[in-house]
Amino acid sequence: MLNNKTAIVTGAGSGIGRASSLKMAGYGSKIVVVDFNQASGEETVRLILEQGGEAIFVQADVSKSEDVQRYVKAAVDTYGRIDIFFNNAGVVQKFSKFADIDENEFDRIMNVNVRGVFLGMKYVLKVMEEQRSGTIINTASTAGVKSEHSASAYSASKHAVVGLTKGAAIEYVKKGIRVNGICPGGVETALTKGVEQDFMSGGYVPEEVGNMRMGRYAQPDELAEVVAFLASDRASYMTGSIVVVDGGLTL
Ligand code: ADP
Repeated sequence: MLNNKTAIVTGAGSGIGRASSLKMAGYGSKIVVVDFNQASGEETVRLILEQGGEAIFVQADVSKSEDVQRYVKAAVDTYGRIDIFFNNAGVVQKFSKFADIDENEFDRIMNVNVRGVFLGMKYVLKVMEEQRSGTIINTASTAGVKSEHSASAYSASKHAVVGLTKGAAIEYVKKGIRVNGICPGGVETALTKGVEQDFMSGGYVPEEVGNMRMGRYAQPDELAEVVAFLASDRASYMTGSIVVVDGGLTL
């Protein structure tokens, strides 16, 4: 499905990023694994090589312009082109009432979730524009299409990801570039484990947990399958779509 393609995946060291890297590698794509965390990124590369795929690791902080330019250059230098960009690295907010949101915490979330996603798109789009082809998938969240109690900063950052997705989709549609977003609900990752611990320790329990109609979190692999589809030519008529994959959570 993705034979001879090259993909960059950010936040590829765990969760949705790792599962999507393994999935797309399985479908034939070469993967540039990008993560802040060197050990987990290298482990993703090892898992790809183990299943017979091809991958390199680039350690980078997606919120830093020089790091973003470095992973984009590494992809072009190593594989010659960028067909797929899964712009996925993100951080969650500690649940907190609006007026209690720490200003530094607000900046941290905006830096990674908004600035990081923006910078990745900016530098990858330059390459894709020259190629006159390519596709981008941004990781938003159900918090990007509805508000979430006690997570206003996170919700704002993910609404911004939706805005960046739609804006770029309009501008680049005539250049053969598709840009879509995915909105996971609850996904079983290291990240949601932390949230679960918050609930356990008596923290605020978001209504979303009760709304998880399938009664379980998604496995990262269930998101990865959608990411691989959006990355493939099978999704050729999709651009600017915000694809909710939440087991019915937002119904
Ligand atoms: P999810 O799969 O739900 O997005 P995870 O916490 O499992 O959540 O994965 C997020 C990944 O993003 C982690 O591997 C983490 O190291 C990575 N990450 C977080 N912040 C940055 C950053 N600033 N730059 C690069 N990678 C980051």
